[in-house]
Amino acid sequence: MDSLNHYRALSPTKLWRVGSRRDKTIIFGGWFALVLASIALGLLSVIKSWSGIPLDFGGVTVYITVYPTLIICLFLTLTCGWRWGAIPAYLSTLSLALYSGMPWHWAIIFACANPLGFAILAVGYQAIPANKNLRDSNSLLFYIQLSFVASIFSSSGALIWCYTNHIDRTALLAIWQGWWLGAFLQSVFIVGPLLALLWPKIARWQQHHPAYLRLASGNVRRSVLRLLGAITIGVLVYGAATIQLASNQLDRALITSSSSMSAEVSNAIMILQQTTWVFFWVFAMIILFIAFFGYQLFTRWQRSTNELLSDLHSANESLECLAQTDGLTGLLNRRTMDERLSSEWLRASRMGSGGALVILDIDHFKNINDHYGHAAGDAVIRNIAQAIQAEARGMDIASRYGGEEFVIVLPQTDAEGALQFAERMRNRIATTAAYHETKELRATISLGVAIFSAQDTSFNAWLARADQALYRAKEAGRNRVVVAN
Ligand code: GH3
Ligand code: MG
Ligand code: MG
Repeated sequence: MDSLNHYRALSPTKLWRVGSRRDKTIIFGGWFALVLASIALGLLSVIKSWSGIPLDFGGVTVYITVYPTLIICLFLTLTCGWRWGAIPAYLSTLSLALYSGMPWHWAIIFACANPLGFAILAVGYQAIPANKNLRDSNSLLFYIQLSFVASIFSSSGALIWCYTNHIDRTALLAIWQGWWLGAFLQSVFIVGPLLALLWPKIARWQQHHPAYLRLASGNVRRSVLRLLGAITIGVLVYGAATIQLASNQLDRALITSSSSMSAEVSNAIMILQQTTWVFFWVFAMIILFIAFFGYQLFTRWQRSTNELLSDLHSANESLECLAQTDGLTGLLNRRTMDERLSSEWLRASRMGSGGALVILDIDHFKNINDHYGHAAGDAVIRNIAQAIQAEARGMDIASRYGGEEFVIVLPQTDAEGALQFAERMRNRIATTAAYHETKELRATISLGVAIFSAQDTSFNAWLARADQALYRAKEAGRNRVVVAN
């Protein structure tokens, strides 16, 4: 389900690299045809002047600009990705601007308006994984709201258009309204139903072609912040521009008709105009406050979740460590050693890498406990664990396997190397003492060594041979090393 909802853009580079010849021809060819159609329709909308068509809404006249290019490019943005829609939108607006005689440096900026609006839609769907089949009220409302903000952004070009075409500034409001309203209505009433109708098919196609899609954006938080920032700016610019344009128109009306209008009426209009501006600034402060407050909440929430996550991570790590090690010595415990033994046995038997297993037991340990107490016995056990850690190489695996019994695996070690290690251990313990309180504790150890043999049908068989060797070492008088046959 998630892949259906997330905004996954079609990646032209991936398509080019891994796409079948048929898919590449259809998609790139189809897109190129749509680019040409967009440019042609863009030019046509200027030639046939489809802009500012007056529509009557219950006595109020609104002007609507029909721009079929927008339908194609918006649909491409929503289904394939921003680049697929932004490029034809840019090229067609650029061509119609140059055709109508706009200076090229203005045309270059002017053509950015629609791609800017589309970017809002793309970031919006990246930030919030709303369903694009528009079958439920949430996804529908989200689409309508995004379309509104995107239309406002797209209409920013109207100001450049009026300026470069020397259009009377009283007509500015009508033209600008026509642009955003036209874009909004086309997006809601034409592209919306088209999307609702075709999305299930497109989603299925996307599911079958994951290799052609860009990876879903990992940083949803950044997308949310970007979207909120853009919407805040959009709403403020929209409010300011509407009131500014309306004021300009009123100013003109007041100048030209002041003689025929009573002083009271023109005064009332002026007051209304000023209160509108006051209202705008209050509104602007509230919007900015909400945005700022929301940002603070958002970052605090983000910080606390990050902290929680890292705490959880380190708690998990220490739990895992606790579960694997023996509390008294810090060596691996028996359960973990069995797992390691099993994988070392597999490695030795499958890859022929060899290896030795050493099992070590303290001699007459009962006597130490009986004479000096259990705590002293523990000190001897810890001392032996330290000796093992000092003698073992980095790759060796040491464990406290039972009460006063240790098992050490020496990977890739032959009989000679294993015997050397065992003798070093035996000698070190026999010649050094452990200390508990003021008491000096001397102990010896016996060791059984088993070199991996192909006859060991399991790690238990390997361990049993080492154990037998240890038993023989004990039998032979203790404080010695015996290598298993
Ligand atoms: P042998 O030379 O035959 O090994 O003689 P031994 O006395 O060491 O005999 P055995 O291995 O059977 O005795 C193990 C003793 O170790 C029994 C138990 O009381 C003691 N022991 C086991 N775990 C611990 C431990 O964690 N701390 C202490 N202090 N003693 C332990
Ligand atoms: Mg024992
Ligand atoms: Mg013992």
